[in-house]
Amino acid sequence: MKTVKDYIRTIVDFPHEGILFRDVTTLFADPRGMRMAIDQMLHPYAGQPIDKVVGLEARGFIIGGAIAHQLGTGFVPVRKKGKLPGETLSQAYTLEYGEAVVEMHTDAIQPGERVLLVDDLLATGGTAGAGIKLLERVGADIIGCAFIVDLPELGGRKVLEDMGMDVHVLCE
Ligand code: 5GP
Repeated sequence: MKTVKDYIRTIVDFPHEGILFRDVTTLFADPRGMRMAIDQMLHPYAGQPIDKVVGLEARGFIIGGAIAHQLGTGFVPVRKKGKLPGETLSQAYTLEYGEAVVEMHTDAIQPGERVLLVDDLLATGGTAGAGIKLLERVGADIIGCAFIVDLPELGGRKVLEDMGMDVHVLCE
């Protein structure tokens, strides 16, 4: 039987020369692949109360929406700067060259709500780390961070674990 990893393709030199881009659109496009990925992302959290699923722009929205529907919870987007219409909290993080900012609506999550953070891929942990900081600032109880792919050589898992997070990945 095919595994989640078998549905992911690698694009050479995207978005820059020398980068191997792990393309999850082929996983999402396959009915068995999509269902397998969502089921496996949820597996460790079965039976645990979860109030909200938080997804990181943009592929985290696709996964997060499907997971929230499956759990019967709400979904909250963490977006790149300037995209959300209401009052937002911002969190900057470091990129290889420069800085980026992610935002979340200030009223999206109430203190003490139990949230699951999801995205397609964990690389340096910069994006997810910024999402975690936003969630901590609103007093969320982060029960876990789930990703389809981890790129272990970039160290993101350790970054999140050092922040006290429980990290779940489907493949490396
Ligand atoms: P990090 O912030 O952990 O360095 O990078 C992770 C973020 O960049 C995620 O939001 C992820 O979607 C995106 N990303 C970086 N590299 C790749 C890749 O090879 N494939 C995919 N699908 N996303 C990537």
